Amino acid sequence: DELSNKIAAGEVVERPASVVKELVENAIDANSTVIEIELEEAGLSKIRILDNGDGIAPEDCLTAFRRHATSKIKTENDLFRIRTLGFRGEALPSIASVSMLEIKTSTGDEAGTHLKLRGGEITHHEPSSSRKGTEIIVENLFFNTPARLKYMKTINTELGNVTDVVNRLAMANPHVSIRLIHQGRQLLYTNGSGDARQVLAAIYGMAVAKKMIPLKVESLDYDITGYIALPEVTRASRSYMSTTINGRFIKNYGLLKAIQQGYHTLLPIGRFPVVFLAINMDPLLVDVNVHPAKLEVRLSKEAELYELVEEAIKAAFKKQQL
Ligand code: ADP
Ligand code: MG
Repeated sequence: DELSNKIAAGEVVERPASVVKELVENAIDANSTVIEIELEEAGLSKIRILDNGDGIAPEDCLTAFRRHATSKIKTENDLFRIRTLGFRGEALPSIASVSMLEIKTSTGDEAGTHLKLRGGEITHHEPSSSRKGTEIIVENLFFNTPARLKYMKTINTELGNVTDVVNRLAMANPHVSIRLIHQGRQLLYTNGSGDARQVLAAIYGMAVAKKMIPLKVESLDYDITGYIALPEVTRASRSYMSTTINGRFIKNYGLLKAIQQGYHTLLPIGRFPVVFLAINMDPLLVDVNVHPAKLEVRLSKEAELYELVEEAIKAAFKKQQL
């Protein structure tokens, strides 16, 4: 019901950045290759997300706004081999319950669906065009939860959170073209070519991307590719070390430590490298079902992974004679 949706919203939908994250993840799960995100006031007044993915069939569209309606998990076993980003079926009903939401979606085979919801209540329901894909507009976020609205920080802080989220999604999904526009100004564009270096250039600038060398290493359990910046490019924060596992941006302290140990003595004290590593592994060896924000993961065989990463970075620099 509406109350439990609002309660769930308290966990899933903390701020504009969490709405953007959930909606873009849905677009990625739906096999989109092009995603456009447009914001007004960092997303507080408006978030519009357009994708060219599979769309939602007319008979499934109302269900998608009901709690725990996920099309992504069918059996208990699926929980242990999660390959999609979403799986809880909470995002759409939660977001709808705290905003004014409009969706136009079609699978491309037949007329699509056009819904409008206000605080989770459907106010408009009619067929729409059959353009394949989904457009979602979320307006006046938290209009009916003033306490939550009060906790929003400045537009700049909220926008910073949104760009962090979008940058991470872009890094984890180089095969998807992602555009982020804030009040008519383009903040990010990736071309979807699949080349991680292009994404890194879009995020960090060409000067940094040019100073990153490719890394590739494999073991029985892991397949790792990525880019590591030369030691001359350092930052004062750990947040420029980015890691993904099976296409999902993750945080794992041991992994960050392994990266730094790979740089060995090459890093000045208090400085951290710019690194992007995409790790692929058997989904049975990683537990993503730890936290609703889904950033922290639990790994089996983590020691093996850390050693592999450290050694690969050392070897890459040795080859560069650093
Ligand atoms: P979850 O992602 O956990 O399954 P959500 O509440 O985020 O739950 O979405 C509910 C369902 O709506 C999804 O399982 C999916 O079937 C459908 N859906 C949501 N967004 C999109 C989209 N952009 N394109 C296609 N289907 C979507
Ligand atoms: Mg989802």
